[in-house]
Amino acid sequence: MRTPPVATAFLALVSYVAAQGPVFDPGSLIPGTSMYRCGTPSQFNSATADIADCGLNSTNPGPWVPTTVVRIPVVVHVIANTSGTGNLSDALVQSQITVLNEDFRALAGSPAATGFDTKIEFFLATTDPSGNPTNGIRRYSNNSWFSDTGAYWTSMAWDTTRYMNIYTNSAGGGGVLGYVPDLPQGNSVLNTTADRVVILYSAFGRPATGGAPYNQGRTCTHEVGHYLGLYHTFQGGCGTSSCYTTGDRICDTQPEQTARFGCPVGATSCATPDPIRNFMDYTDDTCMTGFSPEQGARMRCTLANFRPNLSVPGGPLASATVRTGTGNLNIYTCPPPVLGTTIQAQANVQGTTWALGSVYWYLQPANVAFPPYTILVNINSPLVYQTPFVAPFFGLFMFWSVTIPNDPFLAGLTVSTQGVLLNATGLGLTNAVDLRLGN
Ligand SMILES: [Zn+2]
Repeated sequence: MRTPPVATAFLALVSYVAAQGPVFDPGSLIPGTSMYRCGTPSQFNSATADIADCGLNSTNPGPWVPTTVVRIPVVVHVIANTSGTGNLSDALVQSQITVLNEDFRALAGSPAATGFDTKIEFFLATTDPSGNPTNGIRRYSNNSWFSDTGAYWTSMAWDTTRYMNIYTNSAGGGGVLGYVPDLPQGNSVLNTTADRVVILYSAFGRPATGGAPYNQGRTCTHEVGHYLGLYHTFQGGCGTSSCYTTGDRICDTQPEQTARFGCPVGATSCATPDPIRNFMDYTDDTCMTGFSPEQGARMRCTLANFRPNLSVPGGPLASATVRTGTGNLNIYTCPPPVLGTTIQAQANVQGTTWALGSVYWYLQPANVAFPPYTILVNINSPLVYQTPFVAPFFGLFMFWSVTIPNDPFLAGLTVSTQGVLLNATGLGLTNAVDLRLGN
């Protein structure tokens, strides 16, 4: 049965409403240009329940002072047009992750060194939603997606409860530097495929291809601030003395009447100096230096209450990823190696003719030795180490164990392991298991 035209129109309207794009607020227009600084909405549904300590209407930062490091896996969807515009390099994508980490952790020696350490980190996802290895970067060539039209994310998004999805394209058709469709507290896109961060391709990374003054990666820092529940510092103008319930719902950012552009040192409004150095104002990338402690607390509260499955505990994580090559026996298993513990692995050779076996460790990088638990077996290939013994089979299983030193220097090291099997007629390989050493 054919769909009546009226129903088609209705569906199109529903689709449009769900496909929330940027807001073109006059106050966001960059002086002297036709470009908007930020397309994140500033009007929110005040009827939304003001839950937790970081609702739409108020902040209670006290319980949320960051004490532990959390890490957020990121997938970056690089959308180019069919002419190749917007096809950002892997290195530029990585540079943006570096900027995020500098800015959110106020890393010493970085432009954000004087900011507040939110103890929030970001990393390009290493595992996709299906559990397969990934570099966390997806690439597309599509003119309408590049134009930021259509609900492209419905087919592209990775589980938005577990990954921060960043899209680079001509945000808002080239009209804005970046936006998120809503604060998580607004609850219009949370837990849907539309939950995302969109950044103008030419303002992404360091140095971004669009040149100054928005080429130091701070557009993404600003939008991720929204993604984690922050308002603009000029939200609500001067607000009132109830700074946790008016303005930006934060007390340790100075109130300001309107957004500031450029880097107007000494600017004042609301009888106080304006927070031109704050990431949540509209100043130039090189003018910004940090978040405030209460902004950090509000973001940590937002993570805990609105994005509870997004971040993972800080520190490198132990993980084990199985690879099975063509013809390799899928018989070798090894648990994730936690620093300071002994891991035990096994090969199950039931029904095979293998009589001896050994497991080899291929260290990456090569400059980390593993004494006294390993034996160098090939002097010409210092990457290859062997477990301490060649295990004779006792029936159906071959077991071995290795103690992982509790050495922080080993954390994050990737080790590829694979068993070599022997019998009277030759050699065979098991499947391989890639191990990431950690806590
Ligand atoms: Zn903004």
